[in-house]
Amino acid sequence: MLKDLIAARMAVGGEILFGTKVTAVDGLDGRQPVIRFAGADGMQAGLDCDFIVGADGAYGVGRAAIPDGLRRDYQRVYPFGWFGILCNALPSSEELIYARHDLGFALISNRTPEVQRMYFQCDPNDKVENWSDRIWAELQARVAGEDGFRLIEGEIFQRNIAPMRSYVCEPMQHGRLFLAGDAAHTVPPTGAKGLNLAASDVFLLDRYSTTAQRRVWRAQHFSWWMTSMLHRSETDSAFDERRQMAELELVTGTVAAATSLAENYVGLPFG
Ligand SMILES: Cc1cc2nc3c(=O)[nH]c(=O)nc-3n(C[C@H](O)[C@H](O)[C@H](O)COP(=O)(O)OP(=O)(O)OC[C@H]3O[C@@H](n4cnc5c(N)ncnc54)[C@H](O)[C@@H]3O)c2cc1C
Repeated sequence: MLKDLIAARMAVGGEILFGTKVTAVDGLDGRQPVIRFAGADGMQAGLDCDFIVGADGAYGVGRAAIPDGLRRDYQRVYPFGWFGILCNALPSSEELIYARHDLGFALISNRTPEVQRMYFQCDPNDKVENWSDRIWAELQARVAGEDGFRLIEGEIFQRNIAPMRSYVCEPMQHGRLFLAGDAAHTVPPTGAKGLNLAASDVFLLDRYSTTAQRRVWRAQHFSWWMTSMLHRSETDSAFDERRQMAELELVTGTVAAATSLAENYVGLPFG
């Protein structure tokens, strides 16, 4: 997607300043806001703008430019993270696998026909080194079933731990600044919504505060719901476990619940 965006910008003769770091955005209430940045050579410069799109992720300067008194942060931090790997292996399944196991959640996905992306739920404060020789055993255990299914293993060439959180910044627009993507919201990746939501934000820039915000909260709910249905937590009670199983039975056993999940997963209509 990034390559496509760069190619589209180049195709219309646009300029892209690679290697620059934005240090501040000013004048958002006026007619000509300014992006202040340090160039690749370290030189400070300013760019006068008609509008600014803050698409600089969860830790950029865009969000922080909305004054504290006007910005409201909604946040939920989950007590688990995802241990993710990339490996050289053939696909283990034609479809994505989402697994809820007593050991915790697991997700098996295909990056390419030769490269697979897999995750398992872990302590967000854990260290990658702690799992070096146990990764495959953990993944195999979490997807094992009565049918004898086994993952096709391969050389692991990337591993990392990502924390899980839900976050929304309101408003997503302040003056001539429009926040888009993770700058405005973060979802736990269980619903595979983050990047899709970023793209749909931009589609909706002309009626931002109302429509985009409503869509963001729909995606927040879906991502939270998928996460709470599929993950285990040390604080879960026996009631929580039974409730999760009942929910999974509903989703896998009724057309209405399965359709609702599919509609939300594939994407909500624009507008
Ligand atoms: C484990 C995991 C799995 C995921 N799986 C999926 C999935 O299956 N489907 C899906 O849709 N989403 C998924 N996501 C979410 C997705 O990765 C993010 O939602 C998406 O990358 C957000 O895009 P963005 O452009 O808004 O922000 P980012 O990708 O964070 O990009 C922001 C950019 O801004 C730059 N930047 C920041 N500050 C500055 C500055 N001061 N000056 C200049 N540049 C700056 C950064 O370098 C970065 O390049 C997943 C996330 C995780 C953690």
